[in-house]
Amino acid sequence: MQHNRRVRPDESRLVDLACELIGFQPVGGTPGEAAIQRHLAELARQARSDDGPSWQVHTWDIPVAEVTARADFPGMEVERTHATGVIVRLPGTGGGRTLLIDGHTDVVPPGDLDAWSQDPFTPVRTRVDGRPSLVGRGACDMLGGLAAAWEALRMVTESGIALRGDVVLAPVSAEEDGGLGTYALLDEMRASGIHPDACIVPEPTDLDLVPANGGALTFRLIVPGAAVHASRRSEGVSAIENLWPIHTALVELERVRNRDVDPLMSRWPIAYPISLGTVTAGDWASTVPDRLIANGRYGVALGEDTASARAQLEDAVARACASDPWLREHPATVEWWGGQFASGRTDPGSEIVELLAETSTRHTGRAPEVYAAPYGSDLRLLTGIGQIPTVQYGPGDTAYAHAPDEHVAIEDLVTCASVLADVIVEYCR
Ligand SMILES: [Zn+2]
Repeated sequence: MQHNRRVRPDESRLVDLACELIGFQPVGGTPGEAAIQRHLAELARQARSDDGPSWQVHTWDIPVAEVTARADFPGMEVERTHATGVIVRLPGTGGGRTLLIDGHTDVVPPGDLDAWSQDPFTPVRTRVDGRPSLVGRGACDMLGGLAAAWEALRMVTESGIALRGDVVLAPVSAEEDGGLGTYALLDEMRASGIHPDACIVPEPTDLDLVPANGGALTFRLIVPGAAVHASRRSEGVSAIENLWPIHTALVELERVRNRDVDPLMSRWPIAYPISLGTVTAGDWASTVPDRLIANGRYGVALGEDTASARAQLEDAVARACASDPWLREHPATVEWWGGQFASGRTDPGSEIVELLAETSTRHTGRAPEVYAAPYGSDLRLLTGIGQIPTVQYGPGDTAYAHAPDEHVAIEDLVTCASVLADVIVEYCR
């Protein structure tokens, strides 16, 4: 950072903030989700008086019912009647470019508590694989990255450097189940005359650069059967057995769709997975089940139109049913619900990607890798609806996201803050 004053990240302040955020238990659809948003707005208002140059804070109630009814709404998987939008803005002196940092504050549920070494929402600092780390739900995905971005904004403020451009830091809700928060943010920014020229999302990338995401569509399969007493099962048709030919067709579809993938995706064994996450069938042990419901996740290729992706899966299911004597007359159906993540892509040669790569290399001595991630994220809303060049860059490995004992190395939090502070100054000067 070229400073008026030399400003280093304040490690304990950064880690304390990450711990504080984890303590909110901001699981999507729970009260913690709105509470963490309100808390960050309040913190930003306090920063205004403490740090000199003012942070402008704007909060609003997201009209959830109105927004979710729109045709291009990306989907929502948990009950949520309200959500809070927050925009923190460090205004420039004018004539510069606007950099947006978008970070989600919602986390996924902790899963099996017995698999954790601790309470997931009481973060602890401990060594993991030899590195001092922070462990807790959201440490990696992505309250750690958000705290690092917050620290970067504090560093820029404390450096006293006058930037021409604006820095906009937006904590958002509801990323994990569809993207309501970023969807509403894009609306609000448009209405407020904020037009970001580039965006960084501090999701866990292990400090590599992810300028593209595969998409993910949540689907439901409804597979019929014919109920009969289990003692005479040959006279009925099991919905569970009817899933088999359909599942086989989905495995084949996955193979075909992964034959020839974009080079940015080449590191992944399966770039565009198709996976069933829940299966429920029947209502009685001694009854042949007449209905099976499976919910799954369907990967969308980079650049692929979601409508044609959906058509491929529907077609595979229809063909599997057509070749089965009973399913031909009683075909399974496919519904699309919940998160509908298109894929998204920013040119890896774009300025924000290259600036992050150069800055990160200077700080770490290692050139970051540039690749596409196989999961959907808010990136596709920012590049799609928002038309904003967007790249993910943050601390932590996605292998630990959504997992028990989720953790992030403290050194990587600090490096991320330093790199982001320099990128902010360079981009907005
Ligand atoms: Zn995330």
